[in-house]
Amino acid sequence: MDIKIKCSTDIKRIRNILSDYDEYMYFNNEEVENLILNYHPDKKIKSINKLVMKCNKSYKTKCLHVLEKNSSLEKSVGIKEIIENYYGIYDPKLKLEYNIKAGFRTPLYYGDKQSYYLNNTFKSEEDNTRIGKCVNCDYKGKISIDHYPISFKKILNDFLEEEKLNLLDLKIKYENGKWNLENKELEELWLYYHDSVASYRTLCKKCNSSFNCYSQ
Ligand SMILES: [Zn+2]
Repeated sequence: MDIKIKCSTDIKRIRNILSDYDEYMYFNNEEVENLILNYHPDKKIKSINKLVMKCNKSYKTKCLHVLEKNSSLEKSVGIKEIIENYYGIYDPKLKLEYNIKAGFRTPLYYGDKQSYYLNNTFKSEEDNTRIGKCVNCDYKGKISIDHYPISFKKILNDFLEEEKLNLLDLKIKYENGKWNLENKELEELWLYYHDSVASYRTLCKKCNSSFNCYSQ
């Protein structure tokens, strides 16, 4: 079997195991712990006391965290990069690129995209989550805001080209659970540019991933 297929099958398998654990419940799992200790790309975990699934602000989904021995700090670990590293196909450049792009997405929470989200969703009376309608399949529930018709990827690429910037040269820092651009002037310029060209549509999770929008 192709190594990439093997790898993604394993990522799915481990994610399935992890999804069975309730949020904030501490647990041990020998297979997962061995993977973390031996294959985390930057070897940031030295010992493991417990594992716990917790929501991460940036991704809004349950993420794996490690509580080390003699420590009260819970560090988040990405199972994808660990398994890719296990198969020898982990590419730190791709990870960096992904994080820098996340840094470009963070300021959008303060711009028109967030207003569009608030204007096109309403608060559910049951549990206070925001509900919207998918324009593709009419699903009503949790929805995401998709850049349409111009993709986020194209807007970002055009901006970088106009400013003569190379994505991988840009510095980012992790703050308040999110990746941010270090250069605040650039961030402001980007938000202004982005909001002047971007328009949106509402999509459910399923349609959003079938259009493969998040990776664009
Ligand atoms: Zn849909």
